[in-house]
Amino acid sequence: MAYTIIAAQRHPHGAWRLPDYDRTCATFTWDEARSRMSGLPGGGLNMGFEAVDRHVEAGHGDWEALRCVAADDSVTHVSYADLAADASRFAHVLDDLGAAPQERVFTLLGRRRELYTAALGTLRSRRVLCPLFSAFGPEPVRQRLALGDARVLVTTEALYRRKVEEIRHRLPGLAHVLLVGPVADPPPGTAVLDRLMARASPVFSVPPTGPEDMALLHFTSGTTGTPKAAVHVHEAVVAHHATAAFALDLGPRDVYWCTADPGWVTGTSYGIIAPLTHGATLVVDEGEFDVHRWYRILDSQKVAIWYTAPTAIRMLMRATPRDGHGLPGPYDLSSLRFVASVGEPLNPEAVVWGQQVLGLPVHDNWWQTETGAIMIANYASGDIRPGSMGRPLPGVRAAILERGQDGRAAVTGGHVRQVPHPGVEGELALRAGWPSMFRGYLNEQGRYDACFADGWYLTGDLARRDEDGWFWFVGRADDVIKSAGHLIGPFEVESALMEHPAVAEAGVIGRPDPVVGAVVKAFVSLRPGCRPDDALRRELLAFTRRRLGPAVAPREIAFDQNLPRTRSGKVMRRLLRARELGLPEGDLSTLESRSDGT
Ligand code: ATP
Ligand code: MG
Repeated sequence: MAYTIIAAQRHPHGAWRLPDYDRTCATFTWDEARSRMSGLPGGGLNMGFEAVDRHVEAGHGDWEALRCVAADDSVTHVSYADLAADASRFAHVLDDLGAAPQERVFTLLGRRRELYTAALGTLRSRRVLCPLFSAFGPEPVRQRLALGDARVLVTTEALYRRKVEEIRHRLPGLAHVLLVGPVADPPPGTAVLDRLMARASPVFSVPPTGPEDMALLHFTSGTTGTPKAAVHVHEAVVAHHATAAFALDLGPRDVYWCTADPGWVTGTSYGIIAPLTHGATLVVDEGEFDVHRWYRILDSQKVAIWYTAPTAIRMLMRATPRDGHGLPGPYDLSSLRFVASVGEPLNPEAVVWGQQVLGLPVHDNWWQTETGAIMIANYASGDIRPGSMGRPLPGVRAAILERGQDGRAAVTGGHVRQVPHPGVEGELALRAGWPSMFRGYLNEQGRYDACFADGWYLTGDLARRDEDGWFWFVGRADDVIKSAGHLIGPFEVESALMEHPAVAEAGVIGRPDPVVGAVVKAFVSLRPGCRPDDALRRELLAFTRRRLGPAVAPREIAFDQNLPRTRSGKVMRRLLRARELGLPEGDLSTLESRSDGT
């Protein structure tokens, strides 16, 4: 089914809001973005300083930086001045502990005020922030602490006892564990952060920091294999700031809510740094996902800009009345000005649902842990094409490269070639050199070098570009299915399935077949009230065949109400494939499991 382009509904505003894409593209340079940073008083660039101090120095210390909504819906307001003071205290604590510049400070925390204190205190003191997902079990936590040479860990007493105590003896380099929140009985080898902070000065002068100094260490989602630790530097803040304006419409004092967990790159780049550099007010949801709670927060906090993920949108869709209209309660979302999504392909169905139910279409955007910032987006200021991830942001050059036998970009004599004309699928590549580009995978030089060819960064994703310059996601190179000479992107098939009213979610793989190479098999989870029987299976087969044609439509459909997904919400097709074929399941450290008591 063809979806029509959704015309831009509102005009962006503010200094950064540029009225049309072409003009933006023609005039924008990263140098311009750099010039919008304050820079350190003595020269240099520090992400923590740009996020908070610049506003305090400009006389905006009383602006609201954080609005923490506790599980019981009580709200705490934190000003930029208070956040700066807390971050300074934390920086002094690190000094007092003797942590050296560039040493790694890990956080194992949910969204809560102390996370921001620790993150910004770490950055301003020139140590390296590495946020972990608090629902990881002990072994994934250990692996990452060891890989990242953790020197300091900030966590809670409960998380320490559940996840760290038993592995601590295997981490000789982990010198300090700081506990936040109420601490009943500090375990041996830990310290209570509040007590240390109480003695520390609220004024800390940021040490000289170079734009190329390491600032963040981020582990990838592990969707396709073992997670990698991507290194980011302070210069990345230039891209965080600019892209948040172009792709999220962020500006001073906007009430903004990013639902991503801080353990993933989105939760840091756009959950902490970028919005603070704009002087926005961040909603910090300390509770669990719950459809009604989420609508309640959008309503009661008057959220203007909402950045979330396809998996969350699909969960909201599931809870929406079947006719697709109206909200599941008397919520007033009239403050909502802009909604964006990232992390997985956003099915066109979800974009249209947004317009019907939220009153706004959902703007899809694309990026990776490695790119450090949004690279391709349905612009804040432009039209939306449902199903397309958008156009490269100003300053970003993207291309589709011809593929070789292995499905990745073909490199011949050190050179790559762009596909001959629009519409041809190939590997999505970005011209190397944007400010937030990762500077390495920690301790894995070879793996890093293999990501680049001929001046391009090779993303590992397949896509195509249409004649108007919009990019369309086809699939991860590892997930694409070759069937009877056709290349089939799982996303296309999954989106077609989702157009059927019974389908809540789908994961599509290729099952090897001696005749055609691979047959398309879909795993489908159903909306409440739908029966997983043969009649529905036949109906779905016929439905997709009509939409996609017999070459692309699934030949087999299995019902599965618990599709395996990463903890960042992505369907793990490699696991569906491994299970289907009886193969080893591989690295499962990022597999979401609801049984670990978190
Ligand atoms: P790993 O690299 O460990 O396999 P991962 O690639 O899932 O994990 P992330 O860096 O969190 O780790 O995710 C980036 C990937 O997510 C992209 O390469 C792409 O495959 C997918 N992705 C992100 N945004 C979008 C989008 N808007 N549309 C389609 N895919 C997206
Ligand atoms: Mg990846």
